[in-house]
Amino acid sequence: MTAPSSTSHPKNLVRLDQPVTTLRGVGPRRAETLAKLGISCVGDVLDHLPRRYEDRRQRLAIADVPEGAVTTVVGCVARSRFNNSWRARRFTARIEDESGWLDAVWLNGAWRSLAAKLSTGVRLSLYGRVEAHRSDAAGRVMFHPEIEVLDDDAGADAGAAIVPVYPSVAGLSQKVLRGLVRQALESCATARPEVLPASVRERYDLAPAAQALRQVHAPQADEWESIETHPKGADEEAGRPPALRRFLVEEIFVFELAMQLRRRLHKAQESAALPPSTQLASAFIERLPFTLTPAQRRALQEVERDLQQPHPMHRLLQGDVGSGKTVVAVLAMLRAVEYGAQAAFLAPTEVLAEQHAERLDEWLTPLGVRIARLTGSVDARQRRTVLDSIASGACQLVVGTHALYQEAVKFAKLAFVVIDEQHRFGVAQRLRLVEKGRHPHLLVMTATPIPRSLALTLSGLLEVSWIDRLPAGRPGVETQVLPAGAQAKAWLRVHQETARGRQAYVVCPQVDGAGDDDYRAARRMVKRLQEVVFRDLRVGVLHGRQPSEEKLAALRAFQSGALDVLVSTTVVEVGLDIPNATAMVIVDADRFGLAQLHQLRGRIGRGRQPGICLALCSAQATEDGRRRLATFAACSDGFELAEFDLDLRGPGEVLGLRQAGMPPLRLADLRRDRDLAARLREEASGLLRADPLLERPEHAELRRALERYGNDLEIELRAG
Ligand code: ADP
Ligand code: MG
Repeated sequence: MTAPSSTSHPKNLVRLDQPVTTLRGVGPRRAETLAKLGISCVGDVLDHLPRRYEDRRQRLAIADVPEGAVTTVVGCVARSRFNNSWRARRFTARIEDESGWLDAVWLNGAWRSLAAKLSTGVRLSLYGRVEAHRSDAAGRVMFHPEIEVLDDDAGADAGAAIVPVYPSVAGLSQKVLRGLVRQALESCATARPEVLPASVRERYDLAPAAQALRQVHAPQADEWESIETHPKGADEEAGRPPALRRFLVEEIFVFELAMQLRRRLHKAQESAALPPSTQLASAFIERLPFTLTPAQRRALQEVERDLQQPHPMHRLLQGDVGSGKTVVAVLAMLRAVEYGAQAAFLAPTEVLAEQHAERLDEWLTPLGVRIARLTGSVDARQRRTVLDSIASGACQLVVGTHALYQEAVKFAKLAFVVIDEQHRFGVAQRLRLVEKGRHPHLLVMTATPIPRSLALTLSGLLEVSWIDRLPAGRPGVETQVLPAGAQAKAWLRVHQETARGRQAYVVCPQVDGAGDDDYRAARRMVKRLQEVVFRDLRVGVLHGRQPSEEKLAALRAFQSGALDVLVSTTVVEVGLDIPNATAMVIVDADRFGLAQLHQLRGRIGRGRQPGICLALCSAQATEDGRRRLATFAACSDGFELAEFDLDLRGPGEVLGLRQAGMPPLRLADLRRDRDLAARLREEASGLLRADPLLERPEHAELRRALERYGNDLEIELRAG
C-alpha cells in the first residue's frame, strides 16, 4: 500500500530520488544553491513546502493598509537612496502605487545588492509590517521587507490568484522555485510515498500525499481557508490550503516518534546508579549560610531520583537568575564524589568557570573534596598536572570551560556532568564531554528557560525541573527605560549608588556589522566615563577580546571592590554573582534580545540591596526594539519573559532545535499545535507498542523519515 520512493509511477518521467539536476533549468551552480535549502533530489523539491501564501486577489492599496498590519503591497520604485550617517547606515526605497507611497528601509543591510535590484521604475511586491513614518506623518514605512521583483509582462505568476512563497536563499528567486516545484509536481507527485500510517491518516481525515502536495503547492481558490490576520507577529498568513494540515500532522508525528525513540535510547543505556550521599551532602548543607528553599529541595529530589537509576539522567534545571541552581548542582555532584566517581562542571565562559571554581573551592575543599580547574588560560605545566589528576582519578571534581572537551582530557571515572548556563541544546558538543564517561548523568542548567508551554514536547531530549521561586528576601530590581539622550540621568543614578559604597555595571552592545565594534565601543565608553563622567570613581573594563589574565584581573578587581564601575560587553551576561553590584546601565538596550536583557539584569539585586537597571534606548530603535524594552521593564519574571520571547522569536529559535541535531520544524509551531502534538504523541507510542522496531513493511517510509532525526535513532532501531 505504501509506494516505496524508488519505484515510480508508470506515467512519471522523473523519479523522486533523482538529483535535482534532472529538472529543467538546474545546472551545477543552481544545484549548489538548492543544496543550501536541503534540496538535493527531486523529492526534496516536492517536500519544500511554502512558508506562506500571498493572496493576490485581495491586495490592498498602499493607502488602505492599516498601520501595524503585516501584509503584501505592490508598487514601483519612485526613488532610492543610501544614507551613511555616523549613527546608522540605511538604504531607503520609496515605493508608490496609485493610492500613495511607502518607504522600504534596510538598516545596515546588504545595500549594494539592493541598490542594483531596486532601480527606479522597477515593480515589486513587498511583504512586512507597515508602520507609521517617523518623520513624515503622511507616509508609511516598512523595515526590512521581503521583496520580490515582479515582471512587467504578464508572467506565469501574474495569473495565479494565490501564490506560494517558499523559504529561499540569496540567488534563488521565488519564480525559479515555483517553476521547479511545478515541474516536479507534473512529473512525479503521484510517487510521493505515504509516511503516515493509514490509521493516522484515517483518524485525521487526511488526503493522500500526492493530492495534498498539489493543493499545497498550487492551491485553487475553492481550496482556500482564510485565516484571521493578527496585527502582530511576523508569520501572519493570508490563509492556507487545508491540505497543509496533512504535512503538519506528518511533521509532528515523526517528531514525536523521534522523541520517544530517543527517550527509549536513554533508558536502554547503562550508567552508574549513584546512591544517596551519607555524609558529604549534609556536611555541605551545614556549612551553607542559608537554608535551601522548598523549590530547591524539590528540584534536588527530582535530580536524586534520576541519579538512583542505572540509566543516564538527562535533566534540564530551569530557574530564574539568582534562584540558586548552583547549590542544587553541587549537592548532586557530591553523590558522584561519595560514590568514588568523578563529576565535571562546565561553564560557558572562562570568567564564570573561574567564579564557580573559587566558590567550589571555598565550599568543598574543607570537606576534603579534591577539585581541579581546567580552562584555556591554564598554562602548559599546570595543565599537565591537571590532566594527570583527572586521568588518575585523584581529582574528584573538575570545573572548566569547553577546554574540557579536548581530546587530551581523559577521566578515570566520569559519572556526572553538569553544564551551566546552556541556553541552547548544543547536543553535538555536549556529547563530546558525555562520551568521556560511560553514559554519565547529565544536568543542564539555564536561566533562559524553555517556556512551560513547550517543556513537555522536549521530554524525549530532556526532562525538566523548575526552581520557580527565588530565595526569600531578594530585594528585586527596578527597571527604567530611558531615551538615549538621557544618559546623564543614568550616570547620576550610578553616582548615587556608588556614593553608598555600591558598584555598577555599564554594558555596551555589540554593534551590528563590524564584529570588532563591540569591544571598541566598550573601550571608548570606559575612556569617556573615566576621563569625563566618573573622574572620581575607579572604572574598569571587561570584554571578550581581552587576554584571559586581563579578564580575570578585571573580574577580581570588581569582585574585591577595587573598581566602582565595570564597563563590559555581554561577557557579564551569564552567571556572575557579585552581590554588591546594584546598578546597571545598558547602552542601546533595544539591540538586545529579551532573554539576554533579563540575563544581564540578573547580575544586580543579588545582595540585600535593591537593584536599579537603566535601559537606554537608542534613537534608531525599531518598533520591535521599543516594544521589547517596554516588555522588559514591565516584567521581571524570567518564565513570563520566556513566553513573550516565544511570541517574538518562535519555538524553533527559542529551543535551538537545530543545535540539538534535529531537523527544523517547518510547519509546526509547538505551542500553537500543542494539543495536536499531545494527541500524536499518543499515536506514536501506540505505534511503537505495536511495532517496536518499525519492522513492518508499511512502516518502511516512516523509518526513512526518521533518518533525518539522526543516526543514533537508526542504530537503536536496528539493535532494538
Ligand atoms: P543562579 O540560579 O542564577 O545560578 P546562583 O546559584 O548563583 O544562582 O545563586 C545566587 C545567589 O543566591 C548565590 O549567592 C547563592 O549563594 C545564593 N543562594 C542560593 N540558594 C540560596 C538560598 N536558599 N537562600 C539564600 N541564598 C541562596
Ligand atoms: Mg548560575
